[in-house]
Amino acid sequence: MHFKSFPFKLYLLLLVHENKQVILNLKKISFIRYRDKGGFPLVDLCKKSISETMSALVFNGTLQVEKVPVPRPKRGEALIKVDKAGICNTDFEIIKGYIPGFNGVLGHEFIGTVVESDEPQMMGKRVTAEINCSCGECEFCKKGLSRHCSLRTVIGIINRNGAFAEYIVVPETNIFVIPDQIPDSDAIFIEPLAAALEIIDQVKIPEDAEILILGDGKLGLLISFVMKCSGYSTTMVGKHREKLSFAEKVGVSVIPLEEFKNGTYDLVIEATGNSDALEMAIENTKPRGIVVLKSTYAGDISFNPSKVVVDEISIVGSRCGRFEAAINFLSNFNNRLPLSQLINQTFSLDQATEAFEYAQNPEILKTIINVSRVGLET
Ligand SMILES: [Zn+2]
Ligand SMILES: [Zn+2]
Repeated sequence: MHFKSFPFKLYLLLLVHENKQVILNLKKISFIRYRDKGGFPLVDLCKKSISETMSALVFNGTLQVEKVPVPRPKRGEALIKVDKAGICNTDFEIIKGYIPGFNGVLGHEFIGTVVESDEPQMMGKRVTAEINCSCGECEFCKKGLSRHCSLRTVIGIINRNGAFAEYIVVPETNIFVIPDQIPDSDAIFIEPLAAALEIIDQVKIPEDAEILILGDGKLGLLISFVMKCSGYSTTMVGKHREKLSFAEKVGVSVIPLEEFKNGTYDLVIEATGNSDALEMAIENTKPRGIVVLKSTYAGDISFNPSKVVVDEISIVGSRCGRFEAAINFLSNFNNRLPLSQLINQTFSLDQATEAFEYAQNPEILKTIINVSRVGLET
């Protein structure tokens, strides 16, 4: 195979390197052709291409787009070329110092393409990845609760670089292929949808349960979609009429906060992010009912627990969920869900700091960074 026989603009080349298949961008490596006009050293070329630097949004006390080395996957890990990544409230919590100690590339909600993998069948697949990277051996991992592994790293959150970058390395076992029928604009919600579906995994909800959701932010809306599509009578209270209208589109009963009168519900889900709402959640829960706490509050809170005791109310904390459940949910219901309408704006990676400023506005639901816009045009 002589390189000169390839069209100059040929985009992808499939190679085999150290038992891993590698997709190379020939535009990026074309300079090597001029340095080596004789025999074409494909393996060297492959190494040189992968060791190039990439753009990434790095948090190091401040937030900036920097050039950093492309990460190299170890055995059992894959290299993914990031396509799109969503900005999440957790990213703001890291920047504000609520999750202390993180330095590195932010971003944990993403989709991309596998470009290097131990598993040949994964090459070129459109994928996302479960964010909790666990040890696989501890008590929790063995029980299938790897999201609670005490040794875990978390993509873009705890001791592991994230997805606001051209490339990301993730454990092969964390990767999920996105079915073709799920468009990018829906697939980007897989991680937060998994968190919404976690409630159904944790709590056995009777079929005739009346559910109240407090908070019309991104997570509140996704929870409302999940509950309504799962057949539950669902009511949502929020401050923003425009956001409430998205829940209304899937048949959720919505009540603006100023019009809400206390009621009694079997299950109340607190997703406002505001600690004042915990008392409101307890207040509206039936005896023997359940409050699901989805918000993480930045500071300490105080509340009177008498009603919890007297009415024997359970308070359940709820965090991340299973990606498999989210992908199945999207495969079944994505035509019914107004997910793409939740995306307010898309920025390129070099505009990532502007994207973060934009996303801080409380009116904004979802801001996407289209990473694949960077580094492809020459
Ligand atoms: Zn998130
Ligand atoms: Zn573990």
